[in-house]
Amino acid sequence: MQEKNKNNELQQILRIDGHIQDIYLAVYANKLLLLDGCCRPDVELVLATIRNILGREISQLKAVIVTHMHADHAGGAAYLKKHTGCKIISSNKPTQWYGGLNGRVEYLLDLSLSYFVAYRRGRKFKNLNYPAELKADILVNDGDAVPMFEDWQIIETPGHTDRDLSVYHAKTGKVYVADLMIKLENRRRGIRFVAPYNIDDPVAYKKSVAKIKQYHPYKVMMAHGGQTFVEQATFDDLIKMTPNKPRTNKDVYQDVVFRMMTTRKPKK
Ligand SMILES: [Zn+2]
Repeated sequence: MQEKNKNNELQQILRIDGHIQDIYLAVYANKLLLLDGCCRPDVELVLATIRNILGREISQLKAVIVTHMHADHAGGAAYLKKHTGCKIISSNKPTQWYGGLNGRVEYLLDLSLSYFVAYRRGRKFKNLNYPAELKADILVNDGDAVPMFEDWQIIETPGHTDRDLSVYHAKTGKVYVADLMIKLENRRRGIRFVAPYNIDDPVAYKKSVAKIKQYHPYKVMMAHGGQTFVEQATFDDLIKMTPNKPRTNKDVYQDVVFRMMTTRKPKK
């Protein structure tokens, strides 16, 4: 009995520096859980980490959670499953996020934005294309325990898209929130937390931030910004600062073009 308990005990959460986002791998004595589906080029990195850093068989990767369908959260899932046989866990939605003709256009716009982010981060060009349709093995709802990893709990935190998931580990007080909040750090403005650029539903988004706040997490793990303690007031500020209107791909592209035009060096 004691041996079984030991096997189900979380040993560590390994943070891996992915192509354009942080990757978190929950490590147990004989099984592994990837908290998000990362980018397609991250697949080799995750497998190499399992083999070389942890010295484990890649078949120990039992599950990958896909928090939402963007390229840096869903891009590697199908490929990881092909290599390891892991199960893909995602939100219980009757439709595909990138379904229909409009969905395919959104997929291409989101994908090109991911290429742009990789370019801005000085990453080498890598193929980020991935299946727009997710074939999940296990669908989960708010409050569910993560199958095979019952010490993790699913928290639905929609708003960035219609199906975002967060995952909470009660014993350590750590929560992975994917793109719910992003930590920015620069010399001029210091550290600040902002909402992701795309906000599908601002009302749902603000509720989701308030929901995470209520957990009083010990550490918040973000896809963009690593893991850190977040003050309760910071959650409130984030809710206050988030606009009440949705921010779509159209706004993102207008902003990118605007920035490119306005950041050009002035000619003398
Ligand atoms: Zn996203």
